[in-house]
Amino acid sequence: MEFDIVALIYSWKMDEAKKHMKEKLELDEIYVTDLVHCPLKYQFQKKYPDLALAGSFSPSALQGEFIHIGVEEVLKMLLGDESVKTEVEHERRVEVDGKAYIVKGRVDAVVGDYIVEIKSARSDAGIPYEHHVEQLRIYMWLTGLRKGILLYVTPARIVQFLYTDPASEGEVIDRIRSIINGSPAPRYTWECNYCPFASICPKKRT
Ligand code: SF4
Repeated sequence: MEFDIVALIYSWKMDEAKKHMKEKLELDEIYVTDLVHCPLKYQFQKKYPDLALAGSFSPSALQGEFIHIGVEEVLKMLLGDESVKTEVEHERRVEVDGKAYIVKGRVDAVVGDYIVEIKSARSDAGIPYEHHVEQLRIYMWLTGLRKGILLYVTPARIVQFLYTDPASEGEVIDRIRSIINGSPAPRYTWECNYCPFASICPKKRT
């Protein structure tokens, strides 16, 4: 049979997406990325998991992922495996109105006492984006580290932004409440353009 790289990459991404979906459906876990996106999406993922899975394979997301892997490998090459931890998983339990939730996140890299979050974008206009900054601040809350770098790789610019203000537990709790209430939906109007649930959503804006 012909060597099929596309099929290999497809299986890798879909297996990963199914694993995440299973954890969400069975364990009620909330990922940091859920906390910074439209809260209705979290609810729809549970109700329409097949739609969510169908949206999890996209060439533009893959391009971003390849940039991630490339930057992580370059950091390891330059600083050594011992100094650079990549794809570091963290979780923290938080109680909201008497119910316990597990917030989970996978940090791109930890170098010393810095979190490094790698982002790619088609254009450098408007960076850093608010939802990326909030994601990084929640990772800082999750890990207990107080220095975070957002590193953007775009065709026009490679640039880093430093943050030293972790999200507070109160901010995280507010975001979990917003997931429970499904509001505000969308959190950003542009989200509807890329949303796998747009075809069934009563709150779709664009
Ligand atoms: S279509 Fe818009 S409002 Fe509806 S779930 Fe998607 S992002 Fe949220």
